[in-house]
Amino acid sequence: MTERPTTTTNAGIAAPSDEFSQSVGPDGPLLLQDHYLIQKMAHFNRERVPERVVHAKGGGAYGHLQITEDVSQFTKAKLFQKGARTDMLLRFSTVAGELGSADTARDPRGFAMKFYTEEGNYDLVGNNTPVFFVRDPQKFSDFIHSQKRRSDTHLRDNNMQWDFWTGSPESAHQVTFLMSDRGTPSTWRNVNGYGSHTFLWYNAGGEKFWVKYHFKTDQGIKNLTAAEADALASSDPDHHIRDLSSAIAAGDHPSWTVQIQIMQFEDAADYRFNPFDLTKVWPHGDYPPINIGKFTLNRNPENYFAEIEQSAFEPANFVPGIGSSPDKMLQGRLFSYPDTHRYRIGPNYLQLPVNRPKVPVHTYNKDGAMTYVNSTDPVYAPNTVGGPVADPSLWGGEVYGVAGEIVRSAYTLHSEDDDYGQPRALWEKVLSDTDKEHLVSNIVGHASNPAVTAEMKLRVVEYWRNVAKDLGDRVASGLGINGS
Ligand code: NDP
Repeated sequence: MTERPTTTTNAGIAAPSDEFSQSVGPDGPLLLQDHYLIQKMAHFNRERVPERVVHAKGGGAYGHLQITEDVSQFTKAKLFQKGARTDMLLRFSTVAGELGSADTARDPRGFAMKFYTEEGNYDLVGNNTPVFFVRDPQKFSDFIHSQKRRSDTHLRDNNMQWDFWTGSPESAHQVTFLMSDRGTPSTWRNVNGYGSHTFLWYNAGGEKFWVKYHFKTDQGIKNLTAAEADALASSDPDHHIRDLSSAIAAGDHPSWTVQIQIMQFEDAADYRFNPFDLTKVWPHGDYPPINIGKFTLNRNPENYFAEIEQSAFEPANFVPGIGSSPDKMLQGRLFSYPDTHRYRIGPNYLQLPVNRPKVPVHTYNKDGAMTYVNSTDPVYAPNTVGGPVADPSLWGGEVYGVAGEIVRSAYTLHSEDDDYGQPRALWEKVLSDTDKEHLVSNIVGHASNPAVTAEMKLRVVEYWRNVAKDLGDRVASGLGINGS
């Protein structure tokens, strides 16, 4: 290989790591002083005008969340109290394709929810898979680049995708989901959603818990084979948008059962998997999912641009009773999502009807491009002339200690952490024989693309042998590679 230049910041300063953000200890939160990380994320968010860089192609609908069980022992958030009914918007999307790309492409599906609560907007920006390809936001823009287009030919490139995945073994769990038939869902009505990240919940007494969200489709999971997905990509590239809007227009309203997994706050430190690692699930046997309610989608948007293209979801929108966690990907997204909206839509994106909270806004933020709600005096705090005042009693549950030296480091490993164990469990314990057959043929089909080099095919086989020997052997055989 030719000698490779050192990565630099845009100012030409040599970068100390392509992989790790500065964090307070291996498991602690990330630091604003990490200029290289901030620059990577901010620059990435400004790469396209005006479509979203990721999740560009999508569709969505309005509905409501209805809570049926009492979880007040875990959170004081009003939208999750028994009997609460909250209006919401859900946007589905693919990840890598552009605005006009085919809905049935092999990809994870975005599952972004905005709840218009009486305490302000709560946004939960999930996927149809419970895990993700990387666990540190330092690698996020690199990952997305590898899935999109080359600089020279403007072509997507399967070799580039496998190069990133095989060089990033933490991707194996999500790539197993992606290459299974769940990578090509029949419709958006037939996918589960997952909050994916671990979040903090705290109750009225200030007791803290870690939580994961699962949204189980009441329509049942249904997937397409690779051949069916390919056929629809040419015959009806907008198949998923069409399916959702026609079902709702016909009065066939899809619904999802809302489940949570709850972990005692103190259990995180010694749990067998790092519970903040976005490439891992919490096995159901350890933390059984608990049903808490349901949401239903029952109203189509009237204007796609105004209500879907300009919809802006931000994982940083927490209401009292809910907070963030030391999940490093979540920490990166807390910055990255609102930053992309400021860039795409402008600093006043929260004034647009689809994004506007259903409660009054009293803020000292003012003016800016395209402001529609003009500021009133006083324009500063503190003041003695009757402006709004903050309520310190609202700060409470999100209080916990962190300590450590500033490092660029992988997470501390918990006793059973490795990159292959959970995808191996998926292969060995969960997938049916037919699922396995389709997984192998989907991998082989993808890695047989003419762009994939002979050397890369060997890396692909090794990657899958690390997940499970028999899976790797079957991929090798499909790719015409003999021997072990
Ligand atoms: P369980 O046997 O308790 O649960 C396995 C779960 O896998 C099912 O409940 C179902 O969850 C999901 N599943 C079923 N069929 C498929 C499929 N064809 N493709 C993908 N997922 C499927 O096992 P564990 O909780 O111990 O997890 C074992 C493995 O299952 C994990 O390593 C992970 O790969 C996978 N998994 C685990 C989930 C979790 O949150 N624990 C969620 C999804 C998958 P669902 O109804 O949510 O799809």
